[in-house]
Amino acid sequence: MNIAIVGTGLVGRVLALNLLKEGHTLTLFDKDTKEGVTSAGFTAAGMLAPFAELETAESVIFELGNRSMELWTSLAREAGLYNGVKFNGTIITAHQQDMPELEHFIKTLKWKVDKAKDIKLLNSQGLKEIESELSHHNQSFYLKDEGHIDSQRFIAFSTTYLDSMPNIIWKDNTFINRLEPNKVIYNNQEESFDWVFDARGLGAKEYFKDLRGVRGEVIWVEANDINISRPTRLMHPRYKIYIVPRENGCEGIELEYCKDCKIAQTTGSKRYIVGASEIESEDMSDISVRSTLELLSALFTVHPNFGEARVVNTETNCRPAFKDNLPRIENEKGLTRINGLYRHGYLLAPAIVEKALNEGIRRDYD
Ligand SMILES: Cc1cc2nc3c(=O)[nH]c(=O)nc-3n(C[C@H](O)[C@H](O)[C@H](O)COP(=O)(O)OP(=O)(O)OC[C@H]3O[C@@H](n4cnc5c(N)ncnc54)[C@H](O)[C@@H]3O)c2cc1C
Repeated sequence: MNIAIVGTGLVGRVLALNLLKEGHTLTLFDKDTKEGVTSAGFTAAGMLAPFAELETAESVIFELGNRSMELWTSLAREAGLYNGVKFNGTIITAHQQDMPELEHFIKTLKWKVDKAKDIKLLNSQGLKEIESELSHHNQSFYLKDEGHIDSQRFIAFSTTYLDSMPNIIWKDNTFINRLEPNKVIYNNQEESFDWVFDARGLGAKEYFKDLRGVRGEVIWVEANDINISRPTRLMHPRYKIYIVPRENGCEGIELEYCKDCKIAQTTGSKRYIVGASEIESEDMSDISVRSTLELLSALFTVHPNFGEARVVNTETNCRPAFKDNLPRIENEKGLTRINGLYRHGYLLAPAIVEKALNEGIRRDYD
């Protein structure tokens, strides 16, 4: 089939990788460049955290998240990313005075899903065994069945892969005004396809009137003398943060992408993404002083060695979300829309795309 995908952020790429395997011819549209660096998918920390997200999310996120975790490794490999998906769990810790907050958090998870019953409390010795540099935290929890994906490398690798495919036409820098079943409308012209996918994220507001952006800011730091190997969350009544390691830097990414995406690693030190604010605003401007202070102060309390880390980058973007913060699929013949992945894009994308394809194009053409 001759298929259009509008939006080559996270959902668009996951769609393209799936549809390519089925032998379709694809035309990809994006208002920005192929490198995808303005998409929310590029800003994301890439945590695959079905348990930790349960504090505020519905159990459907947990189910879809677990399905995505099964799909991510082969999907990333499809794009040529072999060592960018890790399943080494998450550490959740808190300062002594905030332990009730952490205990409440774990109780909520256990109440919401049965599988959370296995979550174990670690004392400082237990933590030393898996994340030695954090052993000064007396009590923490280890969510062993979580993972993370190097989201920036997924975007970069999928650009190279999709751009090299003979049955893909990539129309970048092309703003799409409107979509209809079998039609993409732009620059006063109409192009026809057997099926059209709307994966514009926040850019689909012209159609979804109840779609909103939730501003998120992250800070990249580079540290010589601290080595944390898995996502670590600090529970705090006011300043919750996560720290996500990016151990491979830009290894394997062509230099031209490094220049664009600012993830080139020049010193060999380890990088971490520290995030993220969550603000009801669609303002995409640079990180505020307040968010910088809050994120970095909380980071410093996780380990004093972060005091000598270097701030190498900051990113701001908006998560596309509906009122209920749940993802939405709309299928009609010739058109599928996928949106509202909110703060769970990486956690949900493979499973949501699978569901959308099964309920739409695959069912209609079987
Ligand atoms: C700070 C932050 C941290 C995050 N961390 C995580 C995390 O750890 N784990 C997780 O699971 N999720 C995380 N997310 C969420 C995740 O990034 C999003 O849910 C996901 O990127 C949404 O995917 P999408 O494809 O719908 O939108 P996007 O990734 O934003 O892609 C939309 C694409 O559509 C294009 N587009 C828009 N309008 C048009 C138009 N009119 N014409 C043509 N092209 C158009 C855009 O240029 C863009 O490339 C985070 C998000 C943020 C902001």
